[in-house]
Amino acid sequence: MQDERIDPAALAAFLERLSAEILERGDWGKVADYIPELAAIDPAQFAISVALADGTLVSAGADRVPFSIQSVSKVFTLACVLGRQGGQIWQRVGREPSGSRFDSILLLELERGKPRNPFINAGAIVTTDALLEGREPKAALSEILTFLQSACEDVTVRIDPAVARSELETGFRNIALANYLKSYGNLRNPPELTLGTYFHQCAIEMTTRQLAQAGRVIAGLPGAPKILSVMNARRLNALMMTCGHYDGSGDFAYRVGLPGKSGVGGGILLIAPRRASIAIWSPGLNGYGNSQMGTFAAEQLARFTGWSSFG
Ligand code: GLU
Repeated sequence: MQDERIDPAALAAFLERLSAEILERGDWGKVADYIPELAAIDPAQFAISVALADGTLVSAGADRVPFSIQSVSKVFTLACVLGRQGGQIWQRVGREPSGSRFDSILLLELERGKPRNPFINAGAIVTTDALLEGREPKAALSEILTFLQSACEDVTVRIDPAVARSELETGFRNIALANYLKSYGNLRNPPELTLGTYFHQCAIEMTTRQLAQAGRVIAGLPGAPKILSVMNARRLNALMMTCGHYDGSGDFAYRVGLPGKSGVGGGILLIAPRRASIAIWSPGLNGYGNSQMGTFAAEQLARFTGWSSFG
């Protein structure tokens, strides 16, 4: 089907088929094991939800199971920072793909403490630091959570403290990144405060239904709550397209052709501007740290619908 006015019933039937095919394939990838709470999750799970421009939500699989959104949260934190202080953040973080792993420290030394983009860990830690400045972690977290709750119109979205604690205990690379950033003067708060906020932001849990609804503000869907400017939505889409899948961003753009942001919890937020907001979850990851079956599903969905940022 290559029609932008997609028929929800046809889409629902397609998602059911896709979900059944994925369960049958069983090619799940590996769950993230550096966060013990995530290591315990069964990789053999799949969910997909699509919020359409006409206000319908079409879904299949385990779409009511909350999962850890992890790095998908970075998009919403950046939305809050752009809304709060405009382009100031770009003095501290770049807007270029990094071509290196999500938790890499390599470029940070070469580029004197200015992370390549706000979606790799180093850049996200700086973005969270900017949101935190001048207030308590609770206030910054409450802003992110409130943004998400407003975006999906569901106040039950919450942080899972066990996941945050788990990452706090084992997140040695992020601890190293934060200290390194601090040594270059690119963290304004004590590293432990910024990291505590960052780990809690990553530990937000949502279902694919909630995440698809939240993404409507980035997709610019007609019924979406008006909490993000059109320009900032465009900027987020551009960064998701170029940097949303770490060193797998080029491959994802080639295969799927839509802006997306992945998280090590196995979630992907995918945006078809003006047409749909899509959330996919499958916790097994590929070699880039992106959801293996989530990426496959995104590719199949783009093919079925004909949705592409490239005409
Ligand atoms: N909390 C994770 C970390 O910092 C987020 C990474 C991701 O989801 O890709 O390692």
